[in-house]
Amino acid sequence: MRNMFNLITDRLLRRTWTESQIRMLVGEYRELYHAYATDESNRVNAASGGAGSALLISLLEQDEIDGALVCNTVIEKAKIRAHFSIATSKQEILDAQGSKYVETAFMKEALPLIRQFHGRVAVVGLPCDITNLTRWIAKDNDISNKVKLKIALVCGHNSRTELIDEISQQLMKEAASPLRSYRFRKGHWRGKLEAEFLNGTTIRKPFSYFSLYQNLYFYSEKKCLVCHDHFGYQADISLGDVWAYRFKQDPIKKTGVIIRTQQGIDLWNSANRSGAITAEVLEISDILDGQARTAPFHYNVSARNRVAPMFGYKIPDNVKARVSWHAWLTALFTLFNMRWSESSQWNKLIFKLPRPLLKAYLYLRKGIETLP
Ligand SMILES: Cc1cc2nc3c(=O)[nH]c(=O)nc-3n(C[C@H](O)[C@H](O)[C@H](O)COP(=O)(O)OP(=O)(O)OC[C@H]3O[C@@H](n4cnc5c(N)ncnc54)[C@H](O)[C@@H]3O)c2cc1C
Repeated sequence: MRNMFNLITDRLLRRTWTESQIRMLVGEYRELYHAYATDESNRVNAASGGAGSALLISLLEQDEIDGALVCNTVIEKAKIRAHFSIATSKQEILDAQGSKYVETAFMKEALPLIRQFHGRVAVVGLPCDITNLTRWIAKDNDISNKVKLKIALVCGHNSRTELIDEISQQLMKEAASPLRSYRFRKGHWRGKLEAEFLNGTTIRKPFSYFSLYQNLYFYSEKKCLVCHDHFGYQADISLGDVWAYRFKQDPIKKTGVIIRTQQGIDLWNSANRSGAITAEVLEISDILDGQARTAPFHYNVSARNRVAPMFGYKIPDNVKARVSWHAWLTALFTLFNMRWSESSQWNKLIFKLPRPLLKAYLYLRKGIETLP
C-alpha cells in the first residue's frame, strides 16, 4: 500500500527537464551515480548512503590523498557547533560523518588548516565554500598543489546557530541534563536526530523536529539568500540526497553522485574499484526530480531580489531568471520568515506556535513551490 502511494506520488512529481534547465541548475557533469558505502559500518552515521565518507577512506587507504578536510560537530559550552579538521585516519573520517546544518567559518578555518598540512587533501564543503576555495586555488600555489579533490555537498541552505541553540535547549530540558554529543540526521530517508546527554539519556526524534523550522527558512544564514548554486558547480564531485519517491522503499539509503571533472572520475573509479563503494548509474532526471522544488527555488535569486526591499534586504540579482507569481510568493514567505526570526521582539513566538500549524504553513509553501 505504502509502496503504491510512493509510486503514485513519484508519478505526480515527475517533471521533464530541458537541456538548458539542466545546464543552468546542475552545471557541467560527466557521470552520475546512486551509491552507498559497501561496508555497513561506514554508513552508520551517514547523512545519505555514506558514499562521501567511503570515498575519502578509500582514497586515504590507497595513498591518493594524505588527509581529508571534514566538518565535526562539537559541544562548546553546552552548545552545538561545527568546526573543520583534516582527518588522516579512517576513524577520524567516520567521526566527522553526517551533515552539519549549522553555520561554519569555512574559509577562516579551512585555509590555515590546508596551509599547515604537509600533504595532499580532499576537501568537503558546501557549494559556496567550494567556490571560495576554487578562487584561492587559482591564486595560491600552496593551496593549489595540496587540494587534490573538491567535493561539494548539494545544499538547499544552512542555518544560523540560533536555530540549533533553541532546539538543543528544548532537548536538554526534556533530558534534564547537558548535552554530550549530537547528530543532526542519521538513518533511512529523512532520518532522525540523535542527542546524547551527560546523565546517560539518549533522545532520538524525527529529523523534522529541527527541519520544520529550517525548511521554513527561520534563522537561515543571510548569505544563502544571494546564492543560486544548489549542486556545487565548481566541485570535482557533488554529493546529495536523491529524494525522488521511487527510491523511498530501497532498503539502503543512497547518495546521489555528480562527477564533473576528469580528476573526479579518476579518484571515484579508484575508490569504486577497491570495492569501498557500491554504485549504479543514475539519470539526471532522477537527481532533478528529487530536488524539483528546492533547486529551482534556490536558483531563482531574481524572485528574492524582487521582494527583498519589502523586508529591508538588498539581494543583487545575478541570474536574471523569470519570476512567476508562485516563485514571487515563495520568496515572500522565505524573506518574511527570515525577518521574523531576526526580530528580537517577535522571534520567541516562532517556537511557541503549535507544530501542526507550522507544518500546515510548510505544506502550503511546498505546494506553491511545486507549481511548474
Ligand atoms: C547544510 C547542508 C545542507 C544540505 N542540503 C541538501 C539538500 O538540500 N539536498 C540534498 O540532496 N543534499 C543536501 N545536503 C547534503 C546531504 O545532507 C549529504 O551530506 C550528502 O548527500 C552526502 O551524504 P553521504 O552520506 O554520502 O556523506 P557522509 O558519509 O555523511 O559524509 C559527509 C561529509 O560531509 C562533511 N560535512 C558535513 N556537514 C558539512 C558542512 N556543513 N560543511 C562542510 N562539510 C560538511 C562531513 O564531515 C563528511 O565528511 C546538505 C548538507 C548540508 C551540510
